[in-house]
Amino acid sequence: MQLEITFLGTGGSWPTVKRNVSAIAIKRGGEILLFDCGEGTQRQIQKSKLSYMQISKIFITHYHGDHFLGLPGLIQTMQLNDREEPLYIYGPRGLRKLVSQILSLGYFTPTYEIVVTELDDNCSIKFEGYIIKTLKVYHNVPTFAYCLEEDERPGKFNKEKALELGIPEGPLFSKLQRGETIVINGRKITPNMVLGPKRPGRKIVISGDTRPFEKMVDFAKNADVLVHDATFHSELEEVAAEYGHSTAKQAAEIAKKAEVDKLFLVHISPRYLDPKPLEEEAKEIFKDSIVPKDFQSFEIRLKK
Ligand SMILES: [Zn+2]
Ligand SMILES: [Zn+2]
Repeated sequence: MQLEITFLGTGGSWPTVKRNVSAIAIKRGGEILLFDCGEGTQRQIQKSKLSYMQISKIFITHYHGDHFLGLPGLIQTMQLNDREEPLYIYGPRGLRKLVSQILSLGYFTPTYEIVVTELDDNCSIKFEGYIIKTLKVYHNVPTFAYCLEEDERPGKFNKEKALELGIPEGPLFSKLQRGETIVINGRKITPNMVLGPKRPGRKIVISGDTRPFEKMVDFAKNADVLVHDATFHSELEEVAAEYGHSTAKQAAEIAKKAEVDKLFLVHISPRYLDPKPLEEEAKEIFKDSIVPKDFQSFEIRLKK
């Protein structure tokens, strides 16, 4: 199944000509999960290859304006385009009140269902094919990091072993690969006789706004992708700490300790017209560090 991450807003605090505020879309098969929805996110979606009608779930990291002010417009536009499917919105406590306030703005009554779920720290919600986990991070208001972790995949199919067991090549192979037991010449063959150990699915972690936080190392352990707050260059480390943010260098240190594959630095302060210095200081510590541009997409492939 295809898994793709698209950066719809990579800037922090307020929109600039180059970067909109926080929003990240993860497309998995035919479903889009949106993480944060800063002001103007619906226009960013329209300028991207994505369709906002495919958004099934929205996860909000915290209730600072640059992370949720895009919700009222997006919710109304979905209605104007005849949305019928329910929209699921998740976030820290306070979400129910926030959404009810949003829905009471102007003359608007949703005709599709909006299902609000308030989450706690260390939550784990199961969906088909993956789970979403929360971690309360170190910001100046209650904030979650989110982890999307796919279910384990069956192990590698050992063709030689299967042939040795007298299984003819063809549909029986697929049955075993799907985890079904088969019977051949009166003998039961279970999948574990021909499959290697289970392989992990893909893992994406989005830090939300946060100071460097030791628990993030475990939370993001071996992730394919870590998207981390990197609001400032390390020259402004004290300012970062004061406002509950990280520097690019600190984000890279987390990525290195967590042994992730790729680090994306986001929530870039509007003061940095050129993000190169941030990317450079991160790369010194963790080579696969990138400051993505708005609208950049990256496919996350399954490991062999
Ligand atoms: Zn923010
Ligand atoms: Zn914030």
